[in-house]
Amino acid sequence: MQITPEVKAQLEEQKKQCVFCKLISGEMEAKKVFEDNIVIGMLDIYPAKKGHVLYMLKEHYPIMPYIPPDEFKHFFGLVPKVCGAIKEGLVTTGANLFIANGFVAGQKAAHFLANVFPRDNGDGFFNFLFKLRDNTLTEEQIKMLGHNFPLMMNNHFTRNPAEWHKGKGEVPNFLKEIYESSIPIYEDEKVLCILPNKELIGGHIEIYSKLEEKFIEKLSIEDSSHLFFTASFAATALFEGLKAQGTNIILKSGFSDDNKEGKLCVHVLPRSENDGLQGMMWEPKPPKDELDVVLKKIKEEVWKIKYVEEKKVEEKKREPEVIKIKVEKKESSSDEIRKALERIKN
Ligand SMILES: [Zn+2]
Repeated sequence: MQITPEVKAQLEEQKKQCVFCKLISGEMEAKKVFEDNIVIGMLDIYPAKKGHVLYMLKEHYPIMPYIPPDEFKHFFGLVPKVCGAIKEGLVTTGANLFIANGFVAGQKAAHFLANVFPRDNGDGFFNFLFKLRDNTLTEEQIKMLGHNFPLMMNNHFTRNPAEWHKGKGEVPNFLKEIYESSIPIYEDEKVLCILPNKELIGGHIEIYSKLEEKFIEKLSIEDSSHLFFTASFAATALFEGLKAQGTNIILKSGFSDDNKEGKLCVHVLPRSENDGLQGMMWEPKPPKDELDVVLKKIKEEVWKIKYVEEKKVEEKKREPEVIKIKVEKKESSSDEIRKALERIKN
């Protein structure tokens, strides 16, 4: 990732003020759930609900487009194991992961992070209960997303060739109904992206794994990171195509009152000021449950969170041409980043 010297200096300044960097370095005390050399999870001391974990990269990146691909892969590759450990520790039936990109989307600090929530039927958490309506996108907008998004994914595969990727793959039975009732805008062997016929907001994109119907913890490191790479390009498509001022990425997995069928789905939502979706956010309030008890329960399961690099690496080294392409493409991606950052600053 090319970060210009200017931006780098700006980030260094930001880091000095960053509460999360202080919690990570130990300068401030944190309720650490687990950590490795790249990522860390800690309990939110003002949890939106019991078991609310802040899952972060140790390095300070204000927004998702800044995250270098290797760290992105590590972070999102571990999501299944993180969700799995929290679910098992607190014995729940589901999990959510929530990301706010940009102030209007509810981003509160300049340190990129994901909120992870264990979920259960009857847990009283209704922030992600979507009130859906008919699709409001114009035909032009639908066409544009259906055109731009696959292009971005193609560029992604050019930069990061994947042995398994040859084309569209097949739609598994458990996604047939969704496929037929919606507008598919991208698919490959591992994911299906659609514009649902009922949306939360215009531009609502849903991303399904073709490999697993319900439970995020069943996905491999590579399959999970691909799912979220796809989500991050969907977010970029919304920034650029629909001029969103921010985006939310919300993973639903397993059973809860707002996910009756337990389906595994990543929702990507464009956000703008006064768009009526502010109700998804929560107010910081003191915990109802003893945090140290919650911490202990989750900690018993975190030994399972381990990043094991999948082969690949050697193959890349054998192909100098691939590396060349990677360098060329970087300029355009840093342009995207600059644009996204400008929007967040405004
Ligand atoms: Zn920070």
